[in-house]
Amino acid sequence: MNRLDDKVCVVTGAASGIGRRIAEVYARAGGRVAIADLRTADAEDAARAIRDAGGEAMAVAMDVTDEAQVAEGIAAVVARWGKVDVLVSNAGIQIVNKLTDFSLADWKRMLAIHLDGAFLTTRECLRDMERRGEGGAIIYMGSVHSHLASKLKAPYVTAKHGLLGLCRTVAKEAAAYGVRANVICPGFVRTPLVEKQIPEQAKEFGISEEAVVRDIMLRDTVDGEFTTVDDVAHVALTLAAFETNALTGQSLVVSHGWFMH
Ligand code: NAD
Repeated sequence: MNRLDDKVCVVTGAASGIGRRIAEVYARAGGRVAIADLRTADAEDAARAIRDAGGEAMAVAMDVTDEAQVAEGIAAVVARWGKVDVLVSNAGIQIVNKLTDFSLADWKRMLAIHLDGAFLTTRECLRDMERRGEGGAIIYMGSVHSHLASKLKAPYVTAKHGLLGLCRTVAKEAAAYGVRANVICPGFVRTPLVEKQIPEQAKEFGISEEAVVRDIMLRDTVDGEFTTVDDVAHVALTLAAFETNALTGQSLVVSHGWFMH
């Protein structure tokens, strides 16, 4: 269990944060990992670090919102390793603002990265999985915000809720050829995406940065702790390595009890 030997894994947004740690954990479990990201120098750096540690990795330049780049990126992975077994649709950004101050451009950008990106990468990878008929795993990076809402996060909450619908549909459509789809829903993890929000929220709410962490981000956890990239990566490994359709169409919340189903 929890081995990915010879599995080809595409992780989007893997040049940083949660995606990068998932790529490292997958490589340690024997997977061949494609680091797909906008930030090509950081993606190359992440791939090199995995190879230096004895794993197999390649960097793939990809803007997940661009149909042609996604098709070319997945084609490059298939050309190199012959297939895709696991997709982790993880690339994401955060823009916080009051709904009444949100521009349409920012709203569209958020939905494009989180939802168009998930759709386009899923479609490309599923085409390969369907053609080969050997099964596979698709994992979406949702959030506690797939299940509840917070102020200032309208497009993020909308997009993360939307991923649940996409996942459940994929679970039904792709079960015929053994592909499972699940969503991981982390609580706050101290990555660059979250570090950026702390001063932004402090300014917006007129409170200190310490108060943002204590009274907003971690208030409802059972122990006042951040979730870590390792916590999320180990759940991502279990979902990738799970062998049957028994575990599909689900969302797993990894949040120190912030949200309980
Ligand atoms: P991060 O900023 O550390 O990493 C995100 C990566 O996505 C970056 O490398 C960035 O270049 C890449 N990216 C952004 N737009 C892209 C695009 N259009 N195409 C390709 N790559 C793109 O952030 P993170 O915290 O590791 O977030 C990863 C995922 O986890 C996101 O979907 C985020 O919403 C989700 N998430 C994060 C937290 C948290 O607290 N950090 C909690 C729940 C969910």
